[in-house]
Amino acid sequence: MALDTLKDKTNVIPKTMAACRFYGPRDIRYEKVDIPEIKDEELLVKVKVAISGGSSLKTYLRGHPVLVNKELPSPFGHQFSGEVVKAGDKVKGFQAGNKIVAVNSSPCLKCTYCLSKKVSLCENIYFLNGAFADYICIPKEIVENNTYLLSNDLTFEAAAELESLAVVLHGLERSHITEGQIVCILGTGSIGLLFTALSKELGAEVIVIGRSDFKLNLAQEMGADHVLKISENEEKLIRDVKNITNNIGPEVVIEAVGKKETWELATKLVKKGGLVNFFGGCKKGEKVELDTYRLHYDELRLIGVFHHTPEYVRKALKLLEKNISLQEKITSKLITHRYPLSRLIEAFAMQQKGNCIQAAIYPEN
Ligand SMILES: [Zn+2]
Repeated sequence: MALDTLKDKTNVIPKTMAACRFYGPRDIRYEKVDIPEIKDEELLVKVKVAISGGSSLKTYLRGHPVLVNKELPSPFGHQFSGEVVKAGDKVKGFQAGNKIVAVNSSPCLKCTYCLSKKVSLCENIYFLNGAFADYICIPKEIVENNTYLLSNDLTFEAAAELESLAVVLHGLERSHITEGQIVCILGTGSIGLLFTALSKELGAEVIVIGRSDFKLNLAQEMGADHVLKISENEEKLIRDVKNITNNIGPEVVIEAVGKKETWELATKLVKKGGLVNFFGGCKKGEKVELDTYRLHYDELRLIGVFHHTPEYVRKALKLLEKNISLQEKITSKLITHRYPLSRLIEAFAMQQKGNCIQAAIYPEN
């Protein structure tokens, strides 16, 4: 009898849960809400850890076109890992008790872009928000295309970084970095730091340019060969990069900031014939000035790379599972702080101060 009661208890899902919901810029409320009811093709997942990174902070400060819903208050938080507590009757491949990680979107796999294998340009991409909560419902599209079982080699914290890692792998492959090349990375947020670690693994020599000593130190710990501080004196910065690169410039420059000034700087730093990857998205409507001489006579190659695809998510998961040193870098250098869910706002405050790359957010219930 006692055992039965215990067994029943483990299967009981409460009716309400704690969640941090987005009411508008700088207005996040920790409150009690109903636990979502799942449909036949969906999963109900107990969030074990969620991540607050640069995009969550930006969303908190300014709102976001896709990382919160149009209708407010909106569920909030998009990077997480957890444990399935209930699987809909028609779900295949997952059941209660499975440890899983799901990324925050799924392409439709039916539109003209998906069918031509340009999946990150999908016209009907579906986004999921709501990881800053005790539980999250994973919809059919993401259950089918972008939810994965965790192997025992992975902690919930390392797994929750899957989305960041997948976007960086996408950016790296499209930059065609090869052994011995010099790569310059603008930006020292989580994405810039992951680009640093993975470019090193490809055998590149890496220069990182950033604003904060704390973050440039982390870049060195992630493997950067050279770190340079961005300053008012752009000419000097360009000269310093030239000095490191035998006076020719890096073969690849990756902009991982998302600002007009750094987009323009990237095109000034790169070697003739080199590639600039505009990886950091600027605010909508932003314009940049580019030197046509450099584009034409120096044959620069400029590309934009956005988001991830299920293919890169699967590659990122494989990489994460086998690469213990990368897991350690993620949980000790990228995740610099840990907070309970009720103190999410403190995590944002710490991120704003600049001494926090990412915070791991733990539900308390
Ligand atoms: Zn599509």
